[in-house]
Amino acid sequence: MSFDTIVVVDWSGTASPSPERPSKDAIWIGVASRAGDAGTEYYRTREDAVQALCTLFERECYKGRRVLAGFDFPFGYPRGFAKALCGSDDPLALWTEIAARIQDGTDNANNRFDAAGAINRLFPGSGPFWGNGLQRDIADLPRNKASYENPFAERRVCEAAPGTQPVWKLSGVGSVGSQALLGIARLQQLRKRFGAALAVRPFESRQAPITLVELFPSLIAKTIAELAEPNEIRDRAQVRILSAGLAALEPGVLEAMTREGDPEEGWILGLGHQALIEKAARTTLSSALIPPRLRDDCFAMPQGVEWVPVDDALERLRVALVPITQTETLPVAKASGRVLAADCIARRSNPPRPNSAVDGYGFAHAANGTGVQRLPLVAGRAAAGQPFGGTVPEGHAIRILTGAILPEGVDTVVLEEDCATDGATVAFDGPVKPRANTRKAGEDVTEGAVALSAGHRLRAPDLALLSALGIAEVEVFRPLRVGVLSTGDEIIGSPADQAEPHQIYDANRPMLLAMAAAWDAVPVDLGHVRDDPTLIAAALDRGAAEADVILTSGGASAGDEDHVSALLRTRGHLTSWRIAMKPGRPLALALWSGVPVFGLPGNPVAAFVCAAIFARPAISLLSGAGWAEPLAMTLPAGFAKSKKAGRREYLRARIGADGRVEVFASEGSGRISGLNWATGLVELPDEALAVQPGDPVRFLPYQGFGL
Ligand code: AMP
Ligand code: MG
Repeated sequence: MSFDTIVVVDWSGTASPSPERPSKDAIWIGVASRAGDAGTEYYRTREDAVQALCTLFERECYKGRRVLAGFDFPFGYPRGFAKALCGSDDPLALWTEIAARIQDGTDNANNRFDAAGAINRLFPGSGPFWGNGLQRDIADLPRNKASYENPFAERRVCEAAPGTQPVWKLSGVGSVGSQALLGIARLQQLRKRFGAALAVRPFESRQAPITLVELFPSLIAKTIAELAEPNEIRDRAQVRILSAGLAALEPGVLEAMTREGDPEEGWILGLGHQALIEKAARTTLSSALIPPRLRDDCFAMPQGVEWVPVDDALERLRVALVPITQTETLPVAKASGRVLAADCIARRSNPPRPNSAVDGYGFAHAANGTGVQRLPLVAGRAAAGQPFGGTVPEGHAIRILTGAILPEGVDTVVLEEDCATDGATVAFDGPVKPRANTRKAGEDVTEGAVALSAGHRLRAPDLALLSALGIAEVEVFRPLRVGVLSTGDEIIGSPADQAEPHQIYDANRPMLLAMAAAWDAVPVDLGHVRDDPTLIAAALDRGAAEADVILTSGGASAGDEDHVSALLRTRGHLTSWRIAMKPGRPLALALWSGVPVFGLPGNPVAAFVCAAIFARPAISLLSGAGWAEPLAMTLPAGFAKSKKAGRREYLRARIGADGRVEVFASEGSGRISGLNWATGLVELPDEALAVQPGDPVRFLPYQGFGL
């Protein structure tokens, strides 16, 4: 017997409908048939997803096709729990019991935390369930494990698999407990509907038209990451790739897998057979696979283009490159400099409650008139962190300090400095505006709002905002790795080594590595190699393995000694862009084993300018933070210069004491010290120009390049 159709469901335990636009952490269903058809669907609610599954199951049964449907939540609990809760070892009796306790609305609103608290109440101690994602406390459901006692085993046998989470944990990163409660209740609905036509493995051994199994897509996480499309939503990639892999297994092998494992606790399908499933997924999907992230000809320039204007070159780069997709979850405090991979949703409002903006006296505005106001003071006070529990009667006032929650009966505060008091009464001049000196709840950010969007690079103030909104962890892209390689027979790799008169020290590599670090990338030092194609190829191979993008310097023009271009031309789909800019000469763009290579000029000044103008926005885009424009300011020139049409020029420049932009005395690109003298670049446009002192010019400060 075999399965004709494989369905993989990435379940969700959210309490409200998922966004309209397909997003992660929602329900994704992947369907793959043995015949090779495949597709994915996105659902905003559990109700919609279950309805869709019913329709699918009915259609497949009608056509006489056998279905295997897998779900990414636990089907069972550690041994003994079923018996203790419903008097039977039968895990499906537990399903009936859970379904009876769970209410799950068509809009995803549900009672899972209350239901878990009610179950905990039946057992001594403070478990087995823990974790509460709500603001409100729930009786008998501990928020954390501080006072937690669990009469049952913490994990099922199959949860020895790395990355799995205990079924008891209902909230927090990676938790699966809520999904299990809500999922089991929904699957019980399917059991009722399809009766004997549906079997749940490994609890039931019956050969049925519909078979349900538990899955854990992370078992094949590496292959999913490899086969995911650029920018593909992770959940979608999981269901697409896992369903394809399972559909490609030998029929007998898959059938046997469904029968493995523990008939009371349940089992993760395929545990121990990861390599087999991964191989099947790779084989079946590799024909449809998009080759190494970028197309070989992605940097190609149209035929006949001699000199490429800077803006055209930038635009070509922008459309050619795609960001990395791998993400990780980090505590907010550790995420500075990282790029958000998902929107951050405020978990609470800021401020969470209306509070006082000043030290003073609070009262109800309704009791306030014009002229001198005298209000008797109630005993006690309201301070930040020390709320006043009582109600302030109309016509009375209370001492209130900055940040204190407005007590019941208070909507307005008068500034301490505007008052006189003898301790029993407070006096001030009216009228006072309603709600004066108070902050509304959520006036800064409201709960549920997008506080920061995906693609944003986190800076110090962002950590303050996220923390204030109760966000403890963020999903971020892993840092981009930038390889830096220097080439040239005349170059000495380290300034600690002795240099002959004909040799020069490697100035570019430390500079480019530091630039990569300043751009929040991980610098990968690929060292210096001589002008030897074999050595350069070996260094590029290392770069392709250890970095996401490679910056080389030297040997990038078309001259006889330019081995980097020669090598990239034969093996790296090189496109030499003759960019109409000074300094610059050609910029070589290539792909080495699918990794983009920027062949920068050897000249340190040109290497710096080309890296700032071209590599920086590209690195930002590859990191997930989007294309980065430099910061430009228009300032009066402190110099005179005329230039021809046809190329853009970048001059080393700084702002003088008179607020005008002065330029370095020499434009010679060998003068490294001009880079140090300068604090930015002046950008002169492609057109011909005669700048007079006082004329406005575009100044690009180093800081605006993140340097
Ligand atoms: P190339 O692009 O190889 O023709 O080099 C242009 C100029 O830059 C030559 O004078 C090289 O010696 C110099 N150069 C190349 N690489 C470096 C480097 N890593 N550090 C300092 N100067 C370099
Ligand atoms: Mg050279």
